[in-house]
Amino acid sequence: MIYLDNAATTKTAPEVVDAMLPYFSEYYGNASTIYGLGSESKKAITNAREIIAKGLGARTEEIYFTAGGSEADNWAIKATAEAYAAKGKHIITTKIEHHAVLHTCEYLEKQGYEVTYLNVDRDGLVDLEELKGAIRSDTILISIMFANNEIGTIEPIKEIGEIAKEKGVLFHTDAVQAFGQVPINVDELHIDMLSASGHKLNGPKGIGFLYIRTGIKIRSFLHGGAQERSRRAGTENVPGIVGLGVAVERAISTMEERTRKEIELRDYLIQHVEKEIPHCWLNGHRKKRLPNNVNLSFLYIEGESMLIMLDMKGICASSGSACTSGSLDPSHVLLAIGLKHEEAHGSLRLTLSEETTREDLDTVVDELKKIVERLRDMSPLYADFLKGQKK
Ligand SMILES: *Cc1c(COP(=O)(O)O)cnc(C)c1O
Repeated sequence: MIYLDNAATTKTAPEVVDAMLPYFSEYYGNASTIYGLGSESKKAITNAREIIAKGLGARTEEIYFTAGGSEADNWAIKATAEAYAAKGKHIITTKIEHHAVLHTCEYLEKQGYEVTYLNVDRDGLVDLEELKGAIRSDTILISIMFANNEIGTIEPIKEIGEIAKEKGVLFHTDAVQAFGQVPINVDELHIDMLSASGHKLNGPKGIGFLYIRTGIKIRSFLHGGAQERSRRAGTENVPGIVGLGVAVERAISTMEERTRKEIELRDYLIQHVEKEIPHCWLNGHRKKRLPNNVNLSFLYIEGESMLIMLDMKGICASSGSACTSGSLDPSHVLLAIGLKHEEAHGSLRLTLSEETTREDLDTVVDELKKIVERLRDMSPLYADFLKGQKK
């Protein structure tokens, strides 16, 4: 099997699993108790919190564990909207956010909030002048993703942070794809809130965190016990938190070397596809791009058919359709960068990992070339196109 869907989820690293296991079998105590067994859990939670805080240049008490990236996004947006409603009810985000942000904003619109969805250019980049122009006296939050999960484009986060700070508006970023792949310092980038998730960086699923800068008046997400400084009740997922801590430590300590290798392989794959397969192009910015992301559009091809045929060759990839929802709507991200519906349908996302090799990519390009030829041979649109060329 060649797994190239690391933007969807990653393999849990063996050392992450090893670190988690004792917290199921041996150290199963509730961290809120005072006897020794519970304090083992408490220590492990504190340790993970310290690792993450250090990784972001944040303070330990600014890290709040959640059940993943979606929860962190929901919390950041809904709870600031509620807490700052007296100041205003206007939120700014982009058209290319993950659904955890977009659907949360749509929900808030139904609750009487107003949301501006910023456009992006052909590369997926936000226009800073458009952002400045969108800020009003009643704007309470800017939520812009660090890096896009489909096309890999990395947004100008520092510039966005500076604008937000200057205008006195809170800035949240969904860094689920970027954290562990790109160096992040919340002070240097002027980030007030940041979401991340364990399973996107070789950690476990169902665990993530929200960084909340000290002084922000965000409401509690869950009411109940006093866990997470009374802002997110519920007995802590100790094994998950331990696993997340190890995954973060690992991702940050290996980042430089891993991403250098991934960038090389990423560009190798892009060049080969562009050279070997006609009528295709790269989506997203060529340089301001996640180290492991390749997103391509192929004319006269149905992305879903490509995925099925790749799967038959043992290759896991993803397409530009929102197939998770059971619908075949083209991706909102690809439409936002200006692709036509049929172009968005013919797209393919390949996301690499530290385990990906050059040989894997050679196999993928070989198979892809054959698949694209076969599908085009069956396409009446492609036949029309060829006829048109002969005239
Ligand atoms: C995967 C992802 C999420 C959701 O994270 P979960 O932990 O799966 O809930 C949010 N935002 C982005 C950009 C993602 O890639």
